[in-house]
Order: sequence, then structure tokens, then C-alpha cells
Amino acid sequence: MTDHPDLVRRSAARLAADLAARDVSAVEVVRAHLDRMDAVDGAVHAYLHRDDEGALATAREVDAARARGEALHPLAGVPVAVKDVACTVGQPTTAGSKMLEGWMPPYDATVVERLRAAGLPILGKTNMDEFAMGSSTEHSAYGVTRNPWDLTRVPGGSGGGSSAVLASFQAPLAVGSDTGGSIRQPAAVTGTVGTKPTYGGVSRYGVIALASSLDQIGPCARTVLDTALLHEVLAGHDPRDSTSIDAPVPPVVQAARRADVAGLRIGVVGGRDATGYQPGVLARFTEALDRLEAAGATVVDVACPHFDYAVAAYYLILPSEASSNLARYDAMRYGLRVDPSRGGASSAEQVMAASREAGFGDEVKRRIILGTYALSAGYVDAYYGQAQRVRTLVAHDFAAAFEQVDVLVSPTTPTTAYPIGEKVDDPLAMYRLDVTTIPANLAGVPGLSVPVGLADEDGLPVGLQVLAPAMADDRLYTVAAALERDLVDAWGAPLLDRAPEVSTSPVPTPTRQEA
Ligand code: GLN
Repeated sequence: MTDHPDLVRRSAARLAADLAARDVSAVEVVRAHLDRMDAVDGAVHAYLHRDDEGALATAREVDAARARGEALHPLAGVPVAVKDVACTVGQPTTAGSKMLEGWMPPYDATVVERLRAAGLPILGKTNMDEFAMGSSTEHSAYGVTRNPWDLTRVPGGSGGGSSAVLASFQAPLAVGSDTGGSIRQPAAVTGTVGTKPTYGGVSRYGVIALASSLDQIGPCARTVLDTALLHEVLAGHDPRDSTSIDAPVPPVVQAARRADVAGLRIGVVGGRDATGYQPGVLARFTEALDRLEAAGATVVDVACPHFDYAVAAYYLILPSEASSNLARYDAMRYGLRVDPSRGGASSAEQVMAASREAGFGDEVKRRIILGTYALSAGYVDAYYGQAQRVRTLVAHDFAAAFEQVDVLVSPTTPTTAYPIGEKVDDPLAMYRLDVTTIPANLAGVPGLSVPVGLADEDGLPVGLQVLAPAMADDRLYTVAAALERDLVDAWGAPLLDRAPEVSTSPVPTPTRQEA
């Protein structure tokens, strides 16, 4: 055990300061997190893979470099967890699928390269819905992750592993991916912070593709400033990703520090009394609006009429792109290979069919079938084409809204975390809950979720979503930092201090994988 048992509760910014002052070493910080993982991850199941040795090796290098007086990145020595969707040399990368069980990538994703270059020890890879399709981690082939606030509930998804490591103090920083909300929605239901940057703001090179026109990598943390600090490490132009924007990274850290919303025009999208929303979510959301007004912002209602069609459009565009992207899992070059004849007499087509049958889970198969249908000759215009037209209308709604206001806000999710098993067999019910997060992916604009309190009904975290125009990611942090500061002032402590200590006794919850 370390001499600093509270190290795991410190923010990344605080750890960075402690490391710079040599109050602690990077090795001590990493060890404290490994101890914490030993203690709680049996119950939470947020990590699919731990890299104790790799993380300690990086920490040792950072400590040695600091001792030699070398100039270091401010976050050097602050550990991070990475969603299992980003290629990481020396660690398996599975995207939560049996199709890639044990696959060791031959190269690092650009974001992983950047973490390494900045000296952040990588603690391990976090659980996710298979190929990032889902909202609860129940579609992971490796079992569900549990919400640290209540182990019988989901931690959100697809990046539920990343949000759960933060909420259970198993890492101060985590990397996620967001195609339809997979960073923002898990952040909301675990009381943490997460940002989907502007499309093209962070490189997707080396990240396993789900729907390439929607996918975005982004930072997750427990505080707004920490999220901004990680955002800065991850973002920036990468010539290896053709969609990467060649422009300076928006000043996100400065914005998180400034936290001044005076004079800012804030638009409420979807109304303050939207139907289908949990009362406790709306109550915390409305209070947050009042706080923003009290801090000098103008809050007005803004109409985005086509957002109502965003879910329907997304669930045609995403399966179409996914069916195309996932065609590469053909059992010929890498990944699972099942030979139905076992003796080698099967044709390539038989091997492909048997491997895809065995390697993909139900949700992935459902979307591949749907997407293949939506793209098939005769239907492509009626389904995929129509969805693309809706996408354009959603983008126009954003453009019109951002002529009137600087940012848009809404609840991040209609409800707090729901019980494991409740929605797993009702895909439409799960899809519908993505109503708030999906428009940003369709339009490519940045979005962030910040905690605004706990719902009265169940005492679970509520998140507020901020959306801004493309490449104005800094505005997200200004608003979020102001809300966070108010909450900490009012409560005398960060929201996560209210989370119950993770119970390490086994929780008997049936999930599909375990049933
Ligand atoms: N819940 C959404 C889906 O199932 C989000 C996925 C994501 O952002 N990766 O598609």
C-alpha cells in the first residue's frame, strides 16, 4: 500500500501539481491506482485489461526524467485509462468483441501515441459495448460494467468502462469515443464529465471504426478542468486521418479556468418540460438554468424542429456505415477464425460465415443486417438517402440556432442510470434514449456533459449537456466550469464525494452473459 491512500481521489490537475512539487512520485500515484483496482474492480468490472507493468514502467521513466531536471508535460505521470476501441501496442484491443479476443495491435492509435509522448501511464483498457454499439455496456462480449453509484445499474454506454473507472476512482482520466453519445451519456449517469470534441478535432487514426462520419474520440474525467487538460493532449491535426482539422486547438484549458458566463447567450433546446423525461432530471436541469442566469448569462428557448427525427436518421446512417466498416472482419487477415469443417475443407465463404456467426453478438448482427438492407439497391435512396437528407436538416437547425445563441443546453439524458437488464431486450427503448446526444454527431458539433446534481427520486447523478458550434469547443468548458463551480460552492464538495463507497461484496444481478 502507498503512504497516500487518498491519492486516487485527487484530480488530475492536483496530481500534476503534487508531482511537479515532488510531494509524490509517479510510481506512487500508479501504485495507488493499481491497489484501488485490486480492491474494487472485481465488483465494478470496468477494466478488460490491466497493464500494471507498462504503467509502472512509464511512471519510472517520468520520475527519472524529473529527477534529471528534464522539461516534462504538465500531465506527465498522471495515469489514464483507454477505452478498448483504441489500438494500443503491448495490450490487447478487442472493442468489446469476441471477434478480436486477444488481438494485439501492431501500432498505436494517434491518441495513444499522444498519451505516451506526454508521459501519461496507461493503466489499462476499459469495457465497452461491442464495437461501441449500445448505451449500457450490456452488449460487451465480456460482461456488463456496473455503475459505481449503484452496482445493480448500468454505467451508460458504450463507454461505460471509462465512466466507471472515473466514478470508482480507478483512474483520474480516461479516453472515450462518441458516435451517438458514448462519452456524454456515460458521463451523465455516473456523475463525471465527458466531451465529444468537434468532428475532426481529435484524430481517429488507429481507432476501431464504427460509423466513420460520426465517430469522435474525446476526454473523460471527474472535473471540467481535468477534461480540458486531457482534451488538449488528445486534440490537434493528424495527417494520418483525412478528416482531421488542420487548425489550432480551441483554447479549452483557458476556458475551463475562466468559467465566466456573463453576457453569454444560452439556448435551451427541447424545452424545459419535455415529455418522457424523468422529473428529477428536469428539476436539476431547470435549477442549472437559473444558476446560469444568476451568473449573468441570457437563457432563451430555441426551436430545433428536426431534432425529433435525429434518432431515426442516426439508426439508418450508423448501421449503414457500420455494416460497411465491419465487413473487414472476414476471418482471413486477423481476428477470430472458425473453420466449420475443422479439417480445412471449408471454402473461404463458409469460414467467413461461421466466424462472423460466432464472433459477433446479437446487437452487432442486428445492425449489420439493418445497414446492409438500408444500403441495398432499390432501398438505398428511401432509407440511407432519406436519412442523409434529415441529417442536413439537423445541421441547418444548429446553424440557425447558433445565429441566435452562443451555446445550446439540454439534459444529457432523459433518465438517470437504469437497472441492468431492464432495456437490454428492447433495442428501440434503448435507442430512443439517445434523443439528446445524437444531433451533435449528425452535425459534427462539439458537446460536453457536466454533473448538475442528483435526482430526488433515486439519488442518482444528472448531467447537463452543452453544445457549441464546430471548433468552438472552448465554450463548452466555460459553461461547464461555471456550473461545476456553483455546485461545489453550494455543496462544499464535488458531486462524486456523495457517491457511496463501492461495495466489494458480490452483487447477484442477472445479465445476458451470466444468465
Ligand atoms: N448509444 C449509441 C448507439 O448505440 C451510441 C454509440 C456510440 O456513441 N458509440 O449507437
